[in-house]
Amino acid sequence: MKKIFILFSITAIFLIYFLLFKVIFNIPRKILFENYIYVNNNQLISKIKPIINENRVWQINLSENNIYFFENSKLKYVIPIAYQAPEDKWYQTPTGYFRIGIKKEKHISSLFPVYMNYAVQFYEDFFIHEIPYYLDGKKVESTFSGGCIRLEKEYAEKFFNLAKTGDLVISYKDLKNLKIKEKFKFPVNLEEFYIRQRFNNPIRNRWTFSKNRKIDYIQHSGIDLAPYSDSKDLNVYNIYDGKISRIVKNGEDDHGLGNTVIIEHNFNDRKIYSLYAHLSEINKNLKEGEFIKKGEIIGKVGATGYGCNYWRIGEDGCDKKSALDIHLHFEIKTKPVLESPIDANCFIYKRETKCYGYTPENPENYGYLNPIKFLAIE
Ligand SMILES: [Zn+2]
Repeated sequence: MKKIFILFSITAIFLIYFLLFKVIFNIPRKILFENYIYVNNNQLISKIKPIINENRVWQINLSENNIYFFENSKLKYVIPIAYQAPEDKWYQTPTGYFRIGIKKEKHISSLFPVYMNYAVQFYEDFFIHEIPYYLDGKKVESTFSGGCIRLEKEYAEKFFNLAKTGDLVISYKDLKNLKIKEKFKFPVNLEEFYIRQRFNNPIRNRWTFSKNRKIDYIQHSGIDLAPYSDSKDLNVYNIYDGKISRIVKNGEDDHGLGNTVIIEHNFNDRKIYSLYAHLSEINKNLKEGEFIKKGEIIGKVGATGYGCNYWRIGEDGCDKKSALDIHLHFEIKTKPVLESPIDANCFIYKRETKCYGYTPENPENYGYLNPIKFLAIE
């Protein structure tokens, strides 16, 4: 009798659970509890921290393929990404700080006869939208994206209804699963930083007005590593034994890079240079021409450089009302110079200039190496 009662109770509990959570509340794959995310009700996958404390922030984690919505620093929603653009291409899904732009509920692509509904602009001609489908209602099978982020229908609709024009968007990769080759030291603390702009990342350069509206992009020649809002270790570390090649102080012909250090490394009988820019301070013991060991502190991450004294979060980096955009601009290159090792022209701030931090196309064609590929195990 007792056994039957226990069995009955277990069945009843299960049924109540099933009815309440699966049928009545219709809770999808992911269940939220404060800032922890559970899959199937018990498996903890991640603890997500708000990167910036603003009222409404969409954090697009391209490593986890999730979009997190924070309201006043409290995690409110998780929206899974169906697929994004392939990495290392100039049209890879952009990383950086953006604002939600226009929204189009019904949208037909200008390139192919497909619907791309629930389209929300997050940067120039990059959108977050529903997986496209043909005009006859058939879903497009290919998972290729030319930069846009695609969501399954239910999530696309949900995102479309929740996103407001002007909301802050942070598109980034985290460093959690990055394995660094033993011979190197990563330039920042892997647990306390994230990639806030990738190598070869598209950055709008200028509008070209012709018959069809056209946007020109320049490509990011390094990676930008930014600390989470509660990070304690703000040190910048030398990646490999070497010689201090150049120390450039903020404002002294820094070409927007601020306090910068360049280190020369003899690597596989080849000279390779690492560059650390926007530092808030440079280690006072560093002297040009002197030896520096792997792991030695170069300085502290900062926001020095650019045309507005400090780099700030926002579209043109100069909005005085917004917070400082503290990050390390880190490059691996073939010459100890601030500009691109192979001559290139960039069009920045309405004038032609040499390229500093950007190149007109893939930076690998201008003497830069992809820092993540250089330092990490594939
Ligand atoms: Zn940068």
